[in-house]
Amino acid sequence: MSGVADEVVHLPVPTLPSSLPPTALGGASPLADQHGRVATDLRVSLTDRCNLRCSYCMPAEGLDWMATEQTLTDDEVVRLVVLGIERLGIREVRFTGGEPLVRRGLVDIVRQVRERSAEVEMSLTTNALGLARTADALAEAGLDRVNVSLDSIRAETYATITRRDRMHDAIAGIEAAVAAGITPIKINAVLLRGLNDTEAPELVRWSLERGYELRFIEQMPLDAQHAWTREHMITADEILASLEAVYDVRPDGEARGSAPAERFLVDTGDGVAGRVGVIGSVTRPFCGDCDRVRLTADGQVRNCLFARTESDLRASLRGGASDDEIVDRWRTAMWGKAPGHGIDDPSFLQPTRPMSAIGG
Ligand code: SAM
Ligand code: SF4
Repeated sequence: MSGVADEVVHLPVPTLPSSLPPTALGGASPLADQHGRVATDLRVSLTDRCNLRCSYCMPAEGLDWMATEQTLTDDEVVRLVVLGIERLGIREVRFTGGEPLVRRGLVDIVRQVRERSAEVEMSLTTNALGLARTADALAEAGLDRVNVSLDSIRAETYATITRRDRMHDAIAGIEAAVAAGITPIKINAVLLRGLNDTEAPELVRWSLERGYELRFIEQMPLDAQHAWTREHMITADEILASLEAVYDVRPDGEARGSAPAERFLVDTGDGVAGRVGVIGSVTRPFCGDCDRVRLTADGQVRNCLFARTESDLRASLRGGASDDEIVDRWRTAMWGKAPGHGIDDPSFLQPTRPMSAIGG
């Protein structure tokens, strides 16, 4: 089992790092790191709160939620996202959480970002509860598409994993997103030993029949309870073996680029076929091609899901920093990104923040 970090270190305003990012002097330049990667994909957590309690994410009783005054306001979120797009080369913005649909200002944030950028690709990672009510408004505000977490299409299994009997609400949310045109729909599923690990083939069939792209995600050591163990997680190899046992599965042959999912063409043999992804974050890491940067709901830049340091843009915002100062601080935070997550390293320590407070 992984260790537990004592506390997150908040980086001070950059002084003289060992080597400076290319243009730590203002002006437009991308979010580069010292290992040759450039971040163009911004994940923005809008809240750490959630209406589900997925067992691999948080405990049944929930967590001590972030205080409202710690959370970035809608205007602060929009200012940072727009700076990312206009000054730092961000091309894709994904709102996440916690559950982004519980954030009251979500539609307005999407609208404001869209008003400033027609080109940026904007999406949502969501459990889809309540999406049936907001899909039209999100589409109208300028959201492009949604990724929905759905670990089972059996109501009982879903309720066991999420600790809430809400599967039908989630499916209604997905259907509303389709009707509103915020597509293509991607479905994320985490397989858990003894709970839904035999359900991969039926999740594939269900998704392909509806034209959704399903991605299986390996369980990562990012749960608030620190209960993850390597022995217990279902690996990418196991996921593929369970599909190969019943379907024809072959690599899709397309270049993966910075996409975390390895993609496979799956044919069920009875007229249902399509692409399925496997995100082997633990056993098949893709850190060398990572193009992501994260902003937490309290305004901390994290250059990696597993980072052990953060850079406090909220302090900059609320301290009256100029746009130049904010983007320089952001670039410096990115420059220090580690080459890999190091889960296999004996010295690996799980970050203090759980996935729900980082933004998955
Ligand atoms: N609440 C939204 C949802 O569930 O889609 C957005 C936030 S959630 C943290 C984002 C994604 O992270 C979901 O697809 C979820 O399944 C995944 N996730 C959460 N904890 C995880 C873990 N320990 N390992 C792998 N994936 C995890
Ligand atoms: Fe909530 Fe998403 Fe975590 Fe499930 S995975 S508890 S839906 S934040």
